[in-house]
Amino acid sequence: MKLNNTDASWFSQQVVDWYQLHGRKTLPWQLNKTPYKVWVSEVMLQQTQVVTVIPYFEKFMASFPDIIALADADEDVVLHHWTGLGYYARARNLHKTAKIVRDQYGGVFPTSIDEVIALPGIGRSTAGAVLSLSLGQHHPILDGNVKRVLARYFMVEGWYGVKKVENQLWQLTEQLTPKDNVTEFNQAMMDLGASLCSRSKFDCESCPLNSRCKAFNNAVVKQFPHSKPKKAVPKKACHQLIIQCDDQVLMEKRPNSGIWGGLFSFFEFEQKSQLDAFLVQQGLELTTKEVEPFTHVFSHFELTINPHVLKINKMPDVVNERQLVWYPLDQSIEVGLAAPTKKLVKQIATIV
Ligand code: SF4
Repeated sequence: MKLNNTDASWFSQQVVDWYQLHGRKTLPWQLNKTPYKVWVSEVMLQQTQVVTVIPYFEKFMASFPDIIALADADEDVVLHHWTGLGYYARARNLHKTAKIVRDQYGGVFPTSIDEVIALPGIGRSTAGAVLSLSLGQHHPILDGNVKRVLARYFMVEGWYGVKKVENQLWQLTEQLTPKDNVTEFNQAMMDLGASLCSRSKFDCESCPLNSRCKAFNNAVVKQFPHSKPKKAVPKKACHQLIIQCDDQVLMEKRPNSGIWGGLFSFFEFEQKSQLDAFLVQQGLELTTKEVEPFTHVFSHFELTINPHVLKINKMPDVVNERQLVWYPLDQSIEVGLAAPTKKLVKQIATIV
C-alpha cells in the first residue's frame, strides 16, 4: 500500500506529539541509553511485559553492567538471571552475541544495521529498535505492538505470521517512520500498542490516531489484527525423577537444543517404563510419595509432567557421568531453572 506523504506526516506527527505528553521516558533502559542496555531490554521485552521485565533488567545490569561482563560470564549464571522469563533461547543468544561483540568488535556494539542483524537472536525489528532508540539512526521497527496498531489503523487483512501480511506491514512502517524524531516515533509506536491500542483493552477515544483509524471508524477494532488460524494443541507427557538427599535434589543440565535448553532439570523420561528400567539398572527402588502431575503450557504444545520422588542417603554412581548439580531446597543457586522445575523445588521443599 503506497501512502501519500501528507498522510504519512500527519500520522507520525500525531504519534510524536502524543509521545511528548504521554510516552514512557523513565524506564530503566531509557536512562543513560546505550546500545547494550537497549538491546538487553528489547530482547527481554519480546513476549514479556514491561512491568515483568523491569526487575529482571535491573538485576541483569547489576550483574553484567556492560557487554564484556556479559560475554565473560558463565552461561549457567546468565540463564540463572533469566529464570522465570521463559523463552530461554533468548538468553543463550544474548550470551553468544556478547561473546561475538567482545571477540570481533572489541567489545563495542556494532552500529551498522546489517552487522547487528547478523548477530544471533536479533531480527530486523530488534536491530532497528536498538539503533534508533539508542543512537537515533533512521530505521523502522515492527514488533508485536507496532503490528497491532498498523493492522488496526489500516485494517490489514490476514494473520501477520504469514509472510505476505508481514511484508505489507513492513512497507507501511517504512513509509510512516519519519527522518526526524525517529527515536520518539519508534518508542511512541511501541507505547501506543502497549497502552491505548493493546490487544483486549483498547481506548480509542483517547487515541491521537482515531480520526483516521479505519478499524475504529468502522467499529471493527476487535476484529484486528486477525488471529492465527486455530490448530489443535498437541499434548505430550513425561516422567521426572526427583532424587532427594536430605534437603537437596539432584538435577542435570539439559542439552542446548530442545525445550529448556541449557537449563537444569530433573532426570526426564518419556515413559514410566523407562524410568522404572533406570531404577532397576541402578538397583534403586521408588519408595517415597508421588507428587501430583501438572500441565505446563508452551506456545506450541502442552506437557504433562509426572513427578516421582526418590529419597536416598548417598549419591548414586550413575550420576557421575552427567553434568549434575545438587540443588538446595531452601535457596537458589546460580543455574537456570525452567518455571516447572522451580515450582517442583518449592513443592518438594514443603514436603521434606
Ligand atoms: S483508534 Fe483505536 S484501534 Fe485505532 S490505532 Fe488508536 S487505539 Fe488503535
